[in-house]
Amino acid sequence: MKMHFLSCGRIRMRKSTYLPDADRSEMIDLPVASALIRHSQGNVLFDSGCHPSIAENAEARWGALTKFMTPIMTRDDNAVSELKGIGLGPDDIDVVICSHLHTDHCGCNAFFKKATVMVHARELEAARGSDAARNGYVNADWDHPMPMTEVTGECDVMGDGKITIIPLPGHTPGPIGVMVGLGRSGGFLLASDALSVRENLDRDIIPRNTWNAELCAHSFDGDSEAGSVGIQDHLRPRCRAMAKHAQGARRLRLIREACEERRCNHRANARYQTDAPATQRVNGRSA
Ligand SMILES: [Zn+2]
Repeated sequence: MKMHFLSCGRIRMRKSTYLPDADRSEMIDLPVASALIRHSQGNVLFDSGCHPSIAENAEARWGALTKFMTPIMTRDDNAVSELKGIGLGPDDIDVVICSHLHTDHCGCNAFFKKATVMVHARELEAARGSDAARNGYVNADWDHPMPMTEVTGECDVMGDGKITIIPLPGHTPGPIGVMVGLGRSGGFLLASDALSVRENLDRDIIPRNTWNAELCAHSFDGDSEAGSVGIQDHLRPRCRAMAKHAQGARRLRLIREACEERRCNHRANARYQTDAPATQRVNGRSA
């Protein structure tokens, strides 16, 4: 099994949205990323980024959301173009897993007409709500005829423990992360917006654009009362979550970290395959 990170542009936002002690004028560019997981039973896409039209006219699709987020992308910075670069067309995608339904995570879903879409039931409910547009949801992104599987808890996508969906609520009602076990390369936790900025985890800071702070904290650190594990547990070596989700895994990485590293070497590593630890692959030296 192999995993590719697809670069789908960037979104510029106020840094204080994520780190309240940052100056109000300071901005942060967040990578918009998808991950393609090539499993022997099919191609799985985790998140599909923004719709290509955003590069030319964001307001037409996003409306008032453009007041809070500015896309930094060209017409080719999208999941469909990136897949083409590795020889795949939209019809080659069998499963699209939506981390959540914010417009910068499912904007290209419409292109994957032969895929089954997996999304958390609570996220779907939020996207159908009366104030969905104000909360970052755009119907044209997710409301399509493709079959949709509603997830309500942990889910082993292929039945072999290599791709496991993990609910990480807080940012919105139904975010899901994916634990990917890549054998000798280790396990990868694709956390998406459940953890937008690593500093949030390291400094225990809940971002301002959080739907439910308490649930977000539990997604970071786990909830011993409820017996749930959080992102921190997944990042700790030899923790119970590792044993459960990624047997034999030696390292866990966050998709945004990998993308940040890739950004530094973007030209030299336009499309790399994560069949080795990301730092090794990207920087060309041992991690
Ligand atoms: Zn989001």
